[in-house]
Amino acid sequence: MDKNKKILIAGAGIGGLAAAACLLQEGYDVEVYEQASELGEIGAGIQTSAPAVKVLHHLGLAKQMSDVSVKPQAFEFKLFDTGEVLHKVPLANTHEESHGAPYYHIHRSDIHKILADRVLELNPKSVFLNAQAIGFEETDDKVYLNLADGRKIEGDILIGADGIKSAIRDQIVGVTPPDFTGQVAWRATVSVDKLPKDFMGKIVAIWCGPKKHAVVYYLRSGELLNFVGCVENDKWQNESWTVKADWQELKDDFAGWNEEIQIIIDNIEKDQCYRWAMNNRKPIDNWRSDRAVVMGDAAHPTLPYMASGAVMAIEDAAVLMRSINASDDVTDALDMFQRNRMERTARIVIESTEHGDLYHLSNREEFEAGFGKKNIAKERAEWLYSYDPLTVDLI
Ligand SMILES: Cc1cc2nc3c(=O)[nH]c(=O)nc-3n(C[C@H](O)[C@H](O)[C@H](O)COP(=O)(O)OP(=O)(O)OC[C@H]3O[C@@H](n4cnc5c(N)ncnc54)[C@H](O)[C@@H]3O)c2cc1C
Repeated sequence: MDKNKKILIAGAGIGGLAAAACLLQEGYDVEVYEQASELGEIGAGIQTSAPAVKVLHHLGLAKQMSDVSVKPQAFEFKLFDTGEVLHKVPLANTHEESHGAPYYHIHRSDIHKILADRVLELNPKSVFLNAQAIGFEETDDKVYLNLADGRKIEGDILIGADGIKSAIRDQIVGVTPPDFTGQVAWRATVSVDKLPKDFMGKIVAIWCGPKKHAVVYYLRSGELLNFVGCVENDKWQNESWTVKADWQELKDDFAGWNEEIQIIIDNIEKDQCYRWAMNNRKPIDNWRSDRAVVMGDAAHPTLPYMASGAVMAIEDAAVLMRSINASDDVTDALDMFQRNRMERTARIVIESTEHGDLYHLSNREEFEAGFGKKNIAKERAEWLYSYDPLTVDLI
């Protein structure tokens, strides 16, 4: 496509910034409109697998990523009370050798900053803050992004990267009400210097128990421990990443769990426990109008059980860049993007939902029954991590 085309992006989250960096690097004229008053990210850790890390390397960010990330040795599934290791999936060198890029743990604010710095390096004037998208209009040859303050921004393509409550998706698809899963996620971090020496290996520990599970891993070159506790609780329905809840409720939720979990919870700052109600949204099969398209959580919000939400958003950025490069026609390019991303993202969304149930169990027998039917290591190697958004054939 003609590099003079102006591409508007609503939302400067991980997905919007990854798309902006990919497109700016190709030479397009890109403007990002973010509702927040400053660029930044909240929350704790994310896991990024090879498909996303390859895109970050393509953006010249290999050193920035390795400087602040942790490379875990393995996934270890553990029983909630005894700590018995039920199953192990190697990561580290095995992941890198098999899939061509490392598996990383990284703080959300670190990856967000790495991407934001790259975008601003490519064009310091490309990001506009205090700019809330409320919808868009399109003609045969232009699209207009409407902002809450009354401004109307003209462009050739509009990318809705405005997250789980996307205004752009609402306009394209209609409002899709979420289904509450009956599960909530506790999120917190612990400074490692508060923990006993050599507290835990450099792994992703997935603690499986009745009606709940916890995921624990290191962040920030090993300075922080990230804790996510997913609990069946149908009384808390607030879908916000910024809402705190009472530490004592977290402690009570994991009463009777292994001593390692107790040590982590006891060392979490009492006023720094966040709780997020997890909603499910069925995959949608229309992501675009003629000149606007959604990506990332706006297109395929997912439960976090395959640690793939941000990974999918970064994969989207690369495939969107390639689709825009491949066609002179805006609608064809957006259609190519949707066509090439829908099946994979729907599979991840559906399997993530199934994984939640798999992790909630009481003993080794239940674990073996569930995991006997599902060979996570094999499946993930075969299709989840082997995908390369920069080279996969586009149809
Ligand atoms: C507990 C938990 C753990 C997770 N763990 C992982 C993990 O390990 N690995 C992984 O890959 N993913 C993980 N995820 C998911 C991942 O964080 C998201 O999928 C990812 O952040 C999506 O990026 P995005 O850019 O599409 O949306 P967001 O990160 O939500 O960004 C959207 C941006 O748009 C802005 N915005 C919103 N509305 C508007 C508007 N109207 N106008 C302008 N701007 C707007 C927002 O302020 C924000 O900056 C996890 C999620 C949860 C809840």
